[in-house]
Amino acid sequence: MISFNKPHLTGKETHYIYKAVQSLHLSGNGMFTKKSHQFFEEKYGFKKCLLTSSCTDALEMSSILIGIEPGDEVIMPAYTFVSTANAFVLRGANIVFADSLPNHPNIDVSKIEALITEKTKAIVPVHYAGMACEMDEIMRLAEKYNLYVVEDAAQAVDSFYKGKPLGSIGHLATFSFHETKNIISGEGGMLVVNDQKLSDRAEIIWEKGTNRSAFFRGEVNKYGWVDVGSSYLPSEVVAAFLYAQLENLDDIQNRRKYIWNTYYKGLKKLEEKGKLKLPIVPDGATNNAHMFYVICNSYEERTALIRYLKEKEIMSVFHYLSLHKSPFYENKHDGRELVMSDFYEHHLLRLPFFYDITEEELTKVIVEINKFFA
Ligand SMILES: *Cc1c(COP(=O)(O)O)cnc(C)c1O
Repeated sequence: MISFNKPHLTGKETHYIYKAVQSLHLSGNGMFTKKSHQFFEEKYGFKKCLLTSSCTDALEMSSILIGIEPGDEVIMPAYTFVSTANAFVLRGANIVFADSLPNHPNIDVSKIEALITEKTKAIVPVHYAGMACEMDEIMRLAEKYNLYVVEDAAQAVDSFYKGKPLGSIGHLATFSFHETKNIISGEGGMLVVNDQKLSDRAEIIWEKGTNRSAFFRGEVNKYGWVDVGSSYLPSEVVAAFLYAQLENLDDIQNRRKYIWNTYYKGLKKLEEKGKLKLPIVPDGATNNAHMFYVICNSYEERTALIRYLKEKEIMSVFHYLSLHKSPFYENKHDGRELVMSDFYEHHLLRLPFFYDITEEELTKVIVEINKFFA
């Protein structure tokens, strides 16, 4: 069976974990955590980075940091992972779901302004497949209406918008290092704080509501409970794994881009014949090769294609179930139809995509999809 995902090991992971264990600093914020923070701050100019145990954690921290209170409204796409919404719902927010673009699963920015009310506190764009949302327009709206922008950049490591790294544009941004992402640590994530005004408090929320980080820097002579917070920082064992991956980021990205381009070339003819649609890279965005998806012409055809590929021992996977129709949220949603979100729910199919996929396997997937449509 050609699996959908397979975690890639760069070689140094267990060595760095061994070093972390030998150093006897196993809790968070040790050498590997600091090295990882520094890596991102230097490479992408992120103002302040804080590793977390997941992107979900980083989203929950964002929700606390921007002061979400019951009744506040947060605008985001319905076509996203549940954590994007859940993190804000946990603090009492009402989620106002926006539709996706006709040619890309990203949020349709032309729909956002009409959704803004007195209660709106934040916009949460999700860079789907690691490709940038129209951030100029989103930041313009945020400025005009005094809103926060939290980039859900879970899939968007090493991707750019008009030359700017994703994760560096919003007031806050969140990344994931879950084993299905480009750079992994099993479970893992990171909060990026670009708004200096949120920086000190982010560290406190990260450290269980205490000013422990300031204490260790010698800025205060004792530390205590100063705010709300939780235990969001990962252990050094996790950070050690992550750092080994970060050292190999360029190699990982080159390989993934090769796989993406191979799929694209191999399926291009089918698109020309109108059998399916291939991903587009939106204007101003780059492609970080997070995933390769195709858009089928109908739900029935997608179901048949999944079944056909399975018979040929190839795993392909559909993606999000629109959140506005989820069992938890459908009664809370305001009833607007979100046509494109439903469209991607029913038509989008993701192909096997991982660093160690062999040339043979890649060819097989392409050949079988071509055969299905022949
Ligand atoms: C993967 C993902 C998340 C959640 O990441 P975790 O690290 O598993 O918490 C959130 N949002 C999006 C868009 C994702 O793809």
